[in-house]
Amino acid sequence: MITEVMVRYGELSTKGKNKKQFIKQLDNNVKNALNEYRGLKIKSHRDRMHIELNDESADIIINKLKVIFGIQTISPVIKVEKSIEKAKEAALFLVKSNYEPGRTFKVNTKRADHEWMFDTNEVNQMLGEYIMNSIPEIKVKMKKPDINVRVEVRLDGIFLSIDSIKGAGGLPTGTSGKGMLMLSGGIDSPVAGYYAMKRGIQVEAVHFHSPPYTSPQALQKAKDLTEKLVKFSGPLPFIEVPFTEIQETIKRVVPQGYIMTITRRMMLRITDQLREQRSGLAIINGESLGQVASQTMESMSVINEVTHTPILRPLISMDKTDIIEVAQKINTFELAILPYEDCCTIFTPPKPRTKPKLVHVLEIEEKMDIHGLIERAIQGIKIEEISANNNQESKQKHIFEDLL
Ligand code: ATP
Ligand code: MG
Repeated sequence: MITEVMVRYGELSTKGKNKKQFIKQLDNNVKNALNEYRGLKIKSHRDRMHIELNDESADIIINKLKVIFGIQTISPVIKVEKSIEKAKEAALFLVKSNYEPGRTFKVNTKRADHEWMFDTNEVNQMLGEYIMNSIPEIKVKMKKPDINVRVEVRLDGIFLSIDSIKGAGGLPTGTSGKGMLMLSGGIDSPVAGYYAMKRGIQVEAVHFHSPPYTSPQALQKAKDLTEKLVKFSGPLPFIEVPFTEIQETIKRVVPQGYIMTITRRMMLRITDQLREQRSGLAIINGESLGQVASQTMESMSVINEVTHTPILRPLISMDKTDIIEVAQKINTFELAILPYEDCCTIFTPPKPRTKPKLVHVLEIEEKMDIHGLIERAIQGIKIEEISANNNQESKQKHIFEDLL
């Protein structure tokens, strides 16, 4: 009986001038996510989107919508012609599908068509009575009922819905511009990528690896993590940067305590150049204040010194346990804890400086051919478009149930 799914935009509707562009982007993102269902009719309006179903399952469509940013709520809807009898049947169907003994309800009617023969009070009353007659033990409750039957009388029909399913929130991916995500094989950076996407950033993944010191499995793991993020953003480029020469050079010329700092500075320089080449506006990483030696304020400021580009650190104030919780919900955790060493762990000595000094760093870097190293790394990049693996996706349906 569900004839369509209605989507409300939430925060989007406060965006003033940008609103049109936001709605257009969301429309695009939804159409991409649902492109295998050719029969759907998707129409975006100023304050909501309607997705008309043919014979698709409302549940499957809703599950796909749940991971799309920019959506506040999702409601299964029954559209009927403008007949009070039809509206009664539909309202009863919706209430029954959610009724358990003891539950209360309320009918809440809005009218866009002011010419229609019944006003909102009359509709509330007639539908309410019909429901009470059909389910004798049910009670009406005006404040916070268990089941809120929303009825909207519009020019082209009557739309009835009950529960609003919580959407993913945030802003539609693509509305905030492009950012380069520094993606390792760890727990944190995929979560940072998820949060960047949530605020509308179109993410490109940059991954540094050092064959033969790092294995093909470690590289594949980073790609697999990227694939997990695709469902939130749509296909995205994975940029693989060869880092072996740089790490070998660092190992040769840099005193132990500064290896980590200089390694990070090189990564950041390269990421920033890629960002510029590809018209990105920001860099995103998975740093969380105080988590490890590279993530003290002193360390971050010395590393950050190589660029003025905004570095977004969505996890900066999160505790590790909270980060892990999100990683589990977005399904990146299990992959992230697979024991393949990434390029940094192999070369970084056990005791990096937590308070590196910039003057020392600059002195040490004098001994390196920074420019040449960066140029050769960038010449060696490989770019691969990562898109969703549909077989895996069905197994992940449950994951988004109660995120946020
Ligand atoms: P993660 O769990 O994301 O690896 P972490 O807690 O292990 O983070 P670090 O290893 O210090 O912390 O890395 C800090 C950040 O630097 C990472 O979150 C990531 O954004 C970036 N980074 C580290 N290693 C790489 C890599 N091999 N390729 C790309 N980015 C990296
Ligand atoms: Mg790491």
